[in-house]
Amino acid sequence: MATHLPRPDLFELPEDLIYLDGNSLGPLPKHAGARASEVIAREWGDQLIRAWNSAGWMALPAKVGSRIAGLIGAADGSVATGDTLSIKVYQALAAALNMRPDRRVILSDDGNFPTDLYMAEGLIRTLDKGYVLKTPAPEDVLSELTDDVAVVMLTHVDYRTGRLHDMQAVTQAVHDAGAVMIWDLAHSAGALPVDLTASNAEFAVGCTYKYLNGGPGAPAFIYVRPDIVLDLQPVLSGWLGHDAPFAMERHYRPAMSTERLRVGTPSVVQLSILDAALDVWDGVDLRDIRAASIQLSERFISEVEARCPMLTLASPRDPNMRGSQVSFAFQHGYPAMQALIDRGVIGDFRQPNIMRFGFTPLYISEADVVRAAEILENVMTTEAWREPKYQTVSRVT
Ligand SMILES: *Cc1c(COP(=O)(O)O)cnc(C)c1O
Repeated sequence: MATHLPRPDLFELPEDLIYLDGNSLGPLPKHAGARASEVIAREWGDQLIRAWNSAGWMALPAKVGSRIAGLIGAADGSVATGDTLSIKVYQALAAALNMRPDRRVILSDDGNFPTDLYMAEGLIRTLDKGYVLKTPAPEDVLSELTDDVAVVMLTHVDYRTGRLHDMQAVTQAVHDAGAVMIWDLAHSAGALPVDLTASNAEFAVGCTYKYLNGGPGAPAFIYVRPDIVLDLQPVLSGWLGHDAPFAMERHYRPAMSTERLRVGTPSVVQLSILDAALDVWDGVDLRDIRAASIQLSERFISEVEARCPMLTLASPRDPNMRGSQVSFAFQHGYPAMQALIDRGVIGDFRQPNIMRFGFTPLYISEADVVRAAEILENVMTTEAWREPKYQTVSRVT
């Protein structure tokens, strides 16, 4: 049965606001706030430390991991949650390098999100074994796949342009070259169908505050292909990744499951919010989300191109080559986005000149998209973005 879309009633969305930034911070699912209050008052407040057992806090990371696994085509038990995506990138990368001890190249692309590349640089310095990070243009990655490449780490959907890597084909090529594959699903989980099992990739990582609506700073996730997890030596050997944390043994001994990717005490309130937020996916088929997302983004592109000739499409024109976002380049993109936000249409700006719009069929309708294009046209034709108040650059863009 086709998913009934959109369902804005499931979210706390201010009236008269068109939210095209769910790719950056998803909105608050209605019952998630109530769940947080309950966890704080009934569990932390009333049960205190007993809640680790009585309220199932210690089991929560694995429970949430299983729910995320269902959304990314991963086997039950193959996804661990916690920490932030930056930390999960570090863990995956360190583990992947260990699997190819004779190779010294980490291959990514220059469109990757900065933190993924920064974490790789930090790991390279820490290991101090002569590793190098190569970042060709996204379309040149496969031609850089030489036999000294240990690991290929790519973000499936480019955060700036929305360009989509072909997960299946790239993973196959990486394996043919003898390297290990890490996918960053930050802009994929909850945005489009992903089949990690079919891809055969060794690792995937992602965050949960974008399309999964887990709230600011929500815990990240890491997938490890089940057949390799018991050979994986965790670089961050924290006590909650230990096989028996409360045995308080003198030496680290990793858990006999994906739980070995846990590090320290989980953020229980945030995990509870995420657990509640994941309810909105019950009964939702991601193929329906994808079809609706393509319809919304195609409509937005045609409306904007017809109304705003000063904007240049910066995303692939073929919807099958895009994730769930559309970007336009405009020289004055920053103040133009501020003017647009001031008029109730929220997107965001990414350096150097990208106006970015995310399409989330769970709560965005085609009427919203047309209205957003109309308001954008007004900002462009009146040059409202020239107003001095739109020129001040905030800390977060
Ligand atoms: C959003 C995003 C991040 C953010 O990492 P955090 O550690 O959660 O701040 C990292 N990588 C990619 C590709 C992203 O899109």
